[in-house]
Amino acid sequence: MLVGFVLNSPRGVFIEVEGSPTTIEAFIAALPAEAPPLVRIDEIIRSEIPSLGDAAFTIHESDAAGSAFALVPPDICVCEACLADTRDPANRRHDYPFTNCTDCGPRYSIILDVPYDRPMTTMAEFAMCDDCRREYQNPENRRFHAQPNACPVCGPRLILVDPGADSAPTSETTTETSDLSISSASSVLSVVEKRSSRAILSRVADLLREGRIVAWKGLGGYQLACDARRPTAVEELRRRKHRSEKPFAIMVADTEVAESLCFVSPEEHAFLVSRERPIVLLRRRPGVDLAESVSPGNPATGVMLPCTPMHDLLFRILRERWGSGAALIMTSGNVSEEPIVIDNAEAEQRLAGIADAFAHHNRRIHTRVDDSVVRVVSGQLMPLRRARGYAPQPVRLGRGEAEVLACGAQQKNTLCLTRAGYAIPSQHLGDLENFETLRFFEETLERMSHLFHVKPAAVAYDLHPGYLSSQFALRMDGLRRIGVQHHHAHIASCMAEHRLDGRVIGVAWDGTGFGTDGTIWGGEFLAADYLGFDRYARLRPVLLAGGDSGVREPWRVARSYLLDTFGTIPDTPRWSAMATPERLRVIDTMLTRRVNTIPTSSAGRLFDAVASLIGLRHSVSFEGQAAMMLEAVADAHPDPAPDPYDFTLTSASPVDVDFRPMIRQMVADIEANQSQPGIAARFHRTMIAVIVEVCRRMRSDLQLHRVCLSGGCFQNARLLAGCLQSLRQDGFEVFSHREVPANDGGISLGQAAIACEQLRHSG
Ligand code: ZN
Ligand code: ZN
Ligand code: FE
Repeated sequence: MLVGFVLNSPRGVFIEVEGSPTTIEAFIAALPAEAPPLVRIDEIIRSEIPSLGDAAFTIHESDAAGSAFALVPPDICVCEACLADTRDPANRRHDYPFTNCTDCGPRYSIILDVPYDRPMTTMAEFAMCDDCRREYQNPENRRFHAQPNACPVCGPRLILVDPGADSAPTSETTTETSDLSISSASSVLSVVEKRSSRAILSRVADLLREGRIVAWKGLGGYQLACDARRPTAVEELRRRKHRSEKPFAIMVADTEVAESLCFVSPEEHAFLVSRERPIVLLRRRPGVDLAESVSPGNPATGVMLPCTPMHDLLFRILRERWGSGAALIMTSGNVSEEPIVIDNAEAEQRLAGIADAFAHHNRRIHTRVDDSVVRVVSGQLMPLRRARGYAPQPVRLGRGEAEVLACGAQQKNTLCLTRAGYAIPSQHLGDLENFETLRFFEETLERMSHLFHVKPAAVAYDLHPGYLSSQFALRMDGLRRIGVQHHHAHIASCMAEHRLDGRVIGVAWDGTGFGTDGTIWGGEFLAADYLGFDRYARLRPVLLAGGDSGVREPWRVARSYLLDTFGTIPDTPRWSAMATPERLRVIDTMLTRRVNTIPTSSAGRLFDAVASLIGLRHSVSFEGQAAMMLEAVADAHPDPAPDPYDFTLTSASPVDVDFRPMIRQMVADIEANQSQPGIAARFHRTMIAVIVEVCRRMRSDLQLHRVCLSGGCFQNARLLAGCLQSLRQDGFEVFSHREVPANDGGISLGQAAIACEQLRHSG
């Protein structure tokens, strides 16, 4: 038998055990498999001490003053046991949307302060009934110390605000009573429903079936739902949300429905049902019954399964009423690029023009956490947006004890704090381009610093002077300032995830990043460690007309590549179709006279250019759209490995990758009416060949054999999978992202790692 104690400490869990060597070995061996579901084991450090002769195994009180991130778990989807409770008519939690236990339920989104205890959560407002309290106090019970424990008698309730209700009464009986009142301004005009959860969600189901849009309060914020099979509903949501083409995610009841709509690999299946319950990008089956406007021109759709008993109950009701197979749009409750809405009154105000009805509840969301988005590439998880379910899980850095703040970049911003050798990346905050998102950034910084007891000694930021995150960093007084080049941060984030030391080959390919020479970088090959980098190679720069503002118009960079390659552009119908004659003349003049242009080595812009050259897309409504379409088109090509186009490498420093030979061959293919899929596939092969070729050179010149792939371009599964395979075949050790996104959402982690290392070296 083992005796001793367990204690939550600032460094994690501390366990002291006494027993025979074999029982201790067996105990340690069993830890990873038998630890509670929410425990994450990074590392087991063991040391022997003299036996103390303890009599029993006890749980020691945790040290609140020193407690750290170990005590702020992420929000976790409902567990099987709780689902079973809510589906059992004999159970007291039958149909109860807020059922949870020690293994599941809200955490990060409801925690006000540490230690994580009920009075420190938004559940403090609810007094547990006798039944719940008994469960909470019983060590044998699944709900022992489950802080958000609740039931229909004592816990949170749904509240329906349904302006159209008077014309559509429902016959559901009321089984719960409610004494809630609504305090929002619009409730004067609304019929406030005080009915059972089932009655309320039945009404929601009816509204969805009528093609209405419903805003409902999910785990980390409001979600907007409508019938994804009904084109008019989806198009109306796009119109009201001012979101023209960016794909919407859908929610379906279970993996069976997901598989009826999309191809699902075993790995994708595993992530769909994982307790983080992210949106998983899946390839749609041809001809399925989903509105085209769910993800226009895109063969992939983001799919997520219900993550709370509330979502599950709605889908059960939908199944009862519609038969199986409901598919709902489930998108963030926000206005275009603003943060997700979390407050009831705020929802009715901000989403007034979008939602036809509101399903609120009275459990406050303290911290907004959007849905996470992932993709599976070569069987591996690739995070695209890291939020609910993942944040605020720390990443072990092990680069000293320094406490730093990293402010991230601009697009898909996150911030990151470090403490005690851990980095804690925030949840996805959004594009730092409006006041609301900046406010969310500041609020998150304030709360995370408090929760994790971080007092930063230094602040790391991107070199781009126009980023609000950089401006914020430079306004902070009394902190050491550490400016970090954008692509260096990308590579460092990949290194930090894999805990790499020493120098690596860093392939940082993205849309835009501020270079140390003041131009726009984005197709970079860096020889890098945490302390610095050499720009070994880059894509040969071309001019970007109108600077960064041109990213919505891929045709501009297509013209630039054409002029760069041929000197002039023939006035044939093909090339004249890119824009109006007037616009073409203006941009061509800017490019030839080099007025209002900026050189860029961006790989993202090259993908844009090719999408425009082959006539796929001349202008886009969100960044990365053209590249996404190009990848999708390439997937339609039957040959998995067509010949790459030609390119040359210069012997200058930095080495320039010259694509003029490729553009010549590609234009010849276009003139010869070669298929879009064929050209797109050859282009992808060319990009992979370029990366392999430059990495080989760096290996022989610099004796480096480890490659880190980072930057938004590596969200492209075809590019990433091809690079992983080809580089590994060539003997490289290759690392890509699994914990934070390859896009700018990962920048803050890289900045944090660099800052910690700099502080360690400067003493
Ligand atoms: Zn549970
Ligand atoms: Zn209760
Ligand atoms: Fe970037």
